Formats: sequence, C-alpha cells, structure tokens
Amino acid sequence: MNDPFVSCPYEPRHRVPRSRIQAHIVKCQDKYPELKICPYNATHRFPESEIKQHVTDCPSRASRFLDDAPKCTGAITKPKPLVTDCLPETDPNHEIWDD
Ligand SMILES: [Zn+2]
Ligand SMILES: [Zn+2]
Repeated sequence: MNDPFVSCPYEPRHRVPRSRIQAHIVKCQDKYPELKICPYNATHRFPESEIKQHVTDCPSRASRFLDDAPKCTGAITKPKPLVTDCLPETDPNHEIWDD
C-alpha cells in the first residue's frame, strides 16, 4: 500500500494527503469532538468504543516503544569472573618427601 492519501478519522469521505492530515484533523476535531485520541499517534482517532481496541494493536505502538523505552530492561547480570587462582592443589612439583 502506497496511498499518499489517508481518510479523515472524523469523516472517511475526507481524503487528505498524508502530510496534511494533522492540520486537517485539527479543523475537523472542532466539528466532531467525540473521538478519542490514540496516545501513540495523534492522527489516530476513534470513538470511545473503539479506542481501547486500537490502542492494543496500534501500529505506532512498537515504534514508540523503541523510542521511549529504556534500552536495558530486566536485571543486569554480569558474567561471573572465571576463577583461575583458586584451583585445587594439583601442582605436580609439589612433592612430598616422606622419609
Ligand atoms: Zn475531516
Ligand atoms: Zn494509534
């Protein structure tokens, strides 16, 4: 899909160039104030009955997570240092002279 026009969320008959949709929505929201705004993308607007479903699978959600989420999640686990100086005594030169 490479359609540069998108449908106005307030009135699907409004076909607006993608670059203009934000400005168009600002005008339409005065006439159709009942839509809820997607928290992930201000150009996504839905009736209250649909906004929750949209927020669950909003296509802008993943990219927002990448932008805002801290890079490290979960516990930071350092690799355990290799124990090299606590080997059991198996030194072959350590001879016991039993006389
Ligand atoms: Zn419109
Ligand atoms: Zn959205």
